[in-house]
Amino acid sequence: MADFGMYHSLGQDAANPNGSQQQGNQPNKFRPPVAPSPSGYQQSGSAAFGQTPNQYMGTPMQNTPPVQDQSYFPPQQSPQYQQDVSSMTSQMGAVGLGVEQHAQPRHKKKDRHAYHNIEGPGGSSQAFNGMPQAGTPTQFLGQNTPQVGGAQWNSPQITPAMNQFPAATPTFSPPMQASPMQHAARTGTPHAAGTPASTQQGRVDPEQIPSVPRSRDVPAQYYLEHVYPTMEHHLPPPALVPFVAYDQGNSSPKFARLTLNNIPSSAEALATTALPLGLILQPLAPLQEGEQPIPVLDFGETGPPRCRRCRSYINPFMTFRSGGNKFVCNMCTFPNDVPSEYFAPTDPSGARVDRLQRPELTLGTVDFMVPKEYWSKPPVGLRWLFLIDVTAEAVNRGYLDGFCEGIMSALYGGETGDSEEEGSAQRLPKGARVGIITFDKEIYFYNLSAGLDKAQMMVMPDIEEPFVPLSEGLFVDPEESKAVITSLLTQLPTMFSEVKNPEPALLPVLNSALAALTATGGKVVCSLSALPTWGPGRLFLRDDGNMHNTDAEKKLLTTEHPGYRKVAQKMVESGIGVDFFLAAPSGGYLDIATIGHVSALSGGEVFYYPTFHSPRDVLKLSKEIKHTVMRETGYQALMKVRCSNGLQVSAYHGNFYHHTFGADLEFGVIDADKAIGVMFSYDGKLDPKLDAHFQSALLYTTATGERRVRCCNIVASVSEGAAEAMKFVDQDAVVSIIAKEAAARVVEKNLKEIRGALTEKTVDILAGYRKNFTGNNPPGQLVLPENLKEFSMYILGLIKSRAFKGGKEPTDRRVHDMRMIKAMGPLELSLYLYPRIISLHNLDEKDGFANESGHLKMPESIRASFSKVEEGGAYIVDNGQVCLLWLHAQVSPHLLEDLFGEGHTSLKGLDAFSATLPVLQTHLNAQVRNILQYLETSRGSKALTIQLARQGLDGAEYEFARLLYEDRNNEAQSYVDWLVHVHRHIQLELAGQRKKEDSSEGGLASTASTFVGLRTPYWG
Ligand SMILES: [Zn+2]
Repeated sequence: MADFGMYHSLGQDAANPNGSQQQGNQPNKFRPPVAPSPSGYQQSGSAAFGQTPNQYMGTPMQNTPPVQDQSYFPPQQSPQYQQDVSSMTSQMGAVGLGVEQHAQPRHKKKDRHAYHNIEGPGGSSQAFNGMPQAGTPTQFLGQNTPQVGGAQWNSPQITPAMNQFPAATPTFSPPMQASPMQHAARTGTPHAAGTPASTQQGRVDPEQIPSVPRSRDVPAQYYLEHVYPTMEHHLPPPALVPFVAYDQGNSSPKFARLTLNNIPSSAEALATTALPLGLILQPLAPLQEGEQPIPVLDFGETGPPRCRRCRSYINPFMTFRSGGNKFVCNMCTFPNDVPSEYFAPTDPSGARVDRLQRPELTLGTVDFMVPKEYWSKPPVGLRWLFLIDVTAEAVNRGYLDGFCEGIMSALYGGETGDSEEEGSAQRLPKGARVGIITFDKEIYFYNLSAGLDKAQMMVMPDIEEPFVPLSEGLFVDPEESKAVITSLLTQLPTMFSEVKNPEPALLPVLNSALAALTATGGKVVCSLSALPTWGPGRLFLRDDGNMHNTDAEKKLLTTEHPGYRKVAQKMVESGIGVDFFLAAPSGGYLDIATIGHVSALSGGEVFYYPTFHSPRDVLKLSKEIKHTVMRETGYQALMKVRCSNGLQVSAYHGNFYHHTFGADLEFGVIDADKAIGVMFSYDGKLDPKLDAHFQSALLYTTATGERRVRCCNIVASVSEGAAEAMKFVDQDAVVSIIAKEAAARVVEKNLKEIRGALTEKTVDILAGYRKNFTGNNPPGQLVLPENLKEFSMYILGLIKSRAFKGGKEPTDRRVHDMRMIKAMGPLELSLYLYPRIISLHNLDEKDGFANESGHLKMPESIRASFSKVEEGGAYIVDNGQVCLLWLHAQVSPHLLEDLFGEGHTSLKGLDAFSATLPVLQTHLNAQVRNILQYLETSRGSKALTIQLARQGLDGAEYEFARLLYEDRNNEAQSYVDWLVHVHRHIQLELAGQRKKEDSSEGGLASTASTFVGLRTPYWG
């Protein structure tokens, strides 16, 4: 759950632009982008909304009598909504860089979709005819919106039934004039409609190429005021944009994103696009304030109704017939008998009379409680086991101190400066238990029983065959034992400062953790600050830095170590997962390939501090420990993905254990930040008159000890060819699938081959579009699909990422980033592939404060290029992993004083190791702190602390330069050169002269093969 805290106010400062609307000292309260629901939304009498999830507990038969005569999606005559959208429409229709403006005829299908049965008779009788209404633009007047793409922008889909999408025809009209403020903020001139992105004589105007910042900023504005209705609109907002989803039976994009929301009926048709057909799932994704909590449904001993043939769970797309006696599976079309306890009659339209009272028939995402047959062991509250490295390096570098403090902060709040949470009540869910083990070359267990004066330590010297020497007191209630735990954590750094063993024995302590948690499952949080060189499983320096660009380098990115592989597998089997907190204080080698394998296989995560420096990094460490403990975590999890007849799962990508293909995915643990990529291939032809359905089912135990299944249902329309599909491409999902597959290929291919394959894939997709879906554009034009305008830039970002970039890079960092890419959700990936950069020296005075509607006004972000950096400028650069505060050498002393306080007038005078800004009563300081707080709410698992990058002074400047992804750096091209390169190859392809290493059947063959994301021949 995003923590939408209070933004800092200016106190009494008269400079507060909102001062007149504020009461004295009252802070500006940032409200998340909760749009006023389009009128009519919540009057349906649906049980699914406006009530607490608890109402769904208890047996379904207790439900109240049906409410019959209201459609689930009542007519939505919201003039305000339509006007806003239409104003957007008029602006959006016109823009783009050689981007195709599709005429999108309303797609009428025969009424054979499941939705009709769901919707009941007639759906709604909309006056809205799909044409944008003329109207005075209100909210978005004067917005220049060149980068917003996507069908949902072109016209509001006010129709309730899915069969009505794809979107209606956008009208073409010239862009609105930008306001003076926007002119000032804008770096380039407005684009003319249909301007090609290139390239006569290979020359490209850098201002004319698609801008990632703009593709985020404009939708972000839009979604401040609008919800995303999951059935009416079928192209999700960009992943980085905060939005409130309204679940209409299709899962929110936060949980599930399809690469194509309209799917070609055959493999041949899909092959013309060269796009992967895939699904990105983030089943425990956090919700945003304003979104309904996921209901928890209890069907008692029988469990949720499921299809007898394919075992799909009951969902909104299953249809009822024979008066309610049968339900027809939307995946396999099998007609099941409705169990007597689940029976309800149907109305003349075929809808169950109790449908509106049943979340499982109205919502895309639900949790089912499951009975004993779904258990592998009795579920208990999640057990957290902290393994704390107490070797010399950890003590000396302040890492032990920081880690202990971080645990205390996670369990009890406070300690690390976030005073608003000081003294807050219980942090862990009820029923959770905590245990602590420390290790150097020996292993120390602690009895933390509440009755003790202090923790009792038990040394376990036998690291060859570790066992658990405690039967009681190893796992305790953190509240009951608070005194014992805090005193132990406070004393550990001192205790071990006298011991100072240099070498940690990691594998033995992992085996101890396994032994301690085998009976229950649980989560391990392990710190490590040096290469584990002691005892069984000791590791050695594999990477001497000389294997760059060789086949030997590939071996360094994986592990064959039997001990680590075995403990990882045993952990998954027992429902245990590991998060590591790895510090390399001297920048040394840790063999993350081997150690991190345990996290990767068990569904955990590695937090890596390659240049850990205390105290600078202690805040980040502490926040990240807290995040790992506080985020929604399930354990002992299995996942299954089902899809409609005609499609089949062809591959999974992510961090989990997969026993054999066809088996369920297994996770020791899974948390809110973890995503999985699923790829599909055809095993037949899809019927264009029907829709394609997907359902993921995650069986897991919650941190509170409930065994549940989280079901996500997602649906796509089907069309004969691929032209429709191109209008419903989800760029973030496409990039995510390709990135995850590329990361998975590292074990087989060297990095150069992977970069080459990414380039070829980019050319394939854009050439496929040019060849098959564009009109008569002049051959010199690079024509980009409307919804893939920034795709090339994101792939370039991937090629330049630490995981895949050319040039030297420690293998620890590469392998860490590769595994991260495999596990991260689309939001975190988007940031990782293209940072957001905000200039601070020229903020509008209202930036960083709440506007009239309570939304924080965010400044526009700028392109990641040094050409955008102004002399004397100050910039925030955030890629979701690090957040740099870059300061130009000639930055104004006044700016520094406003930001850092009186007397701080020179770069040299600043504390290089500060991780936060001081709290000052200056306008700029409040603005920047508010902006940082906002950024903190839209990111993945990594905490936001600032790192100074002063021009000419700090090492972090190199990271700043690396993150300027539009520039030429290392061995990689600039964005402009990259587009020219891609375009040249597209032209060669169109001319039939592109050098292909594969046969002419390659495209099709690869699409139909197991790995559809990247051309098989390039992967060998
Ligand atoms: Zn079925």
